[in-house]
Amino acid sequence: MKLNGNFQNLEQSYLFVTIAKKVNEFTEKHPDNQLIRMGIGDVTLPLAPVVIEAMHKATDEMAKKETFRGYSPDSNGYPFLREAIAGYYQSLGVDVEAEEIFVGDGAKSDVGNIVDIFDDANTVLVPDPVYPVYVDTNIMSGREIVYADANMENGFLPMPKADHPADIIYICSPNNPTGAVYNREQLQAWVDYALDQKAVILFDSAYESFVSPGLPRSIFEIPGAEKCAIEFCSLSKTAGFTGMRCGYTVIKKELCFDGVSVAALWQRRQGSKFNGVNYITQRAAEAVFTPEGIKQTRDAVAYYKRNAGVMVDALRELGYWFTGGENSPYVWFKCPDNMGGWEYFDYLLNEKQIVGTPGEGFGKNGAGCMRLSAFGDAEKTKEAMERIKKG
Ligand SMILES: *Cc1c(COP(=O)(O)O)cnc(C)c1O
Repeated sequence: MKLNGNFQNLEQSYLFVTIAKKVNEFTEKHPDNQLIRMGIGDVTLPLAPVVIEAMHKATDEMAKKETFRGYSPDSNGYPFLREAIAGYYQSLGVDVEAEEIFVGDGAKSDVGNIVDIFDDANTVLVPDPVYPVYVDTNIMSGREIVYADANMENGFLPMPKADHPADIIYICSPNNPTGAVYNREQLQAWVDYALDQKAVILFDSAYESFVSPGLPRSIFEIPGAEKCAIEFCSLSKTAGFTGMRCGYTVIKKELCFDGVSVAALWQRRQGSKFNGVNYITQRAAEAVFTPEGIKQTRDAVAYYKRNAGVMVDALRELGYWFTGGENSPYVWFKCPDNMGGWEYFDYLLNEKQIVGTPGEGFGKNGAGCMRLSAFGDAEKTKEAMERIKKG
């Protein structure tokens, strides 16, 4: 018996452990502190009323023999939800059919599990800095990883280059942690590159609901993407579902490699290892896509975007270099006085009583940068920016 040796190649994830340790030390020393936590990537507003109503109704159905539901007939989601999501895509002007939508328990699971259907010999292209899941899940399968450098020169939006040929390309837009978002022309360049290289794009659109009109929310807004891309989306940031667990993956019928349908392989993978999202949560997700659900959940997104706006205004005033904020719940900025991310983290914690996330935790190009989250309370966000502005 041998364990999967690839796990030895994973980097220890010190980031959130170290942050928690430093914050604990601080709060022990200062029990009456005024700490403002802007490090978290989690939502704070409660679920929308339409969602709660749908869950109550579905719970009552589960209490009666006539309406009780056991295993769902299809592990990829009930037709009512797949059709509701297809309707949402229609509203974006994107043609996606219900059968091309695969409902799962969140984008993290689907992004992590999709690698099951790809050969381990593929080369993977991952932006640096980025959400750590893409790197870790490929290290676990022993794939070679190359990095697309995101930095101040390219506005943290790397473009395809001749010297990074790859088979599997990860794109996260709007990006976590940088908040940077690709425009239509830039995504078209990636799609053209993928088609040319016969590569697949794995497009993480977890933050699509934060994107302002005029910029693409879905990779399928880009011509040719149906033949080279898979889209991962989630209700976590869109509708506050981080504790509910529901997301969806879109694979168009046109996506084939060597004549094999990618959607068919994913269906087979899910059918063997996954038994579907629970019925009550699927009804809750359906409610998100009703007109009232869209309105209520967009109100919460607007609240977070106002926080991001307050942060952007403060950074402009301070003259700090930054990305994000406008189409994202994250602002990402260069630490003042050439401080390293951890050095500035300690300064913010001890001098300003603010918790951020140092860029070092997301890749080598994150060094010297800081991520602040707009998912907090509006008054506290204002207070935090006042403290930073005081210098
Ligand atoms: C939060 C987040 C997700 C969503 O994950 P869930 O499993 O759906 O909660 C996916 N991708 C990125 C980049 C994220 O930041």
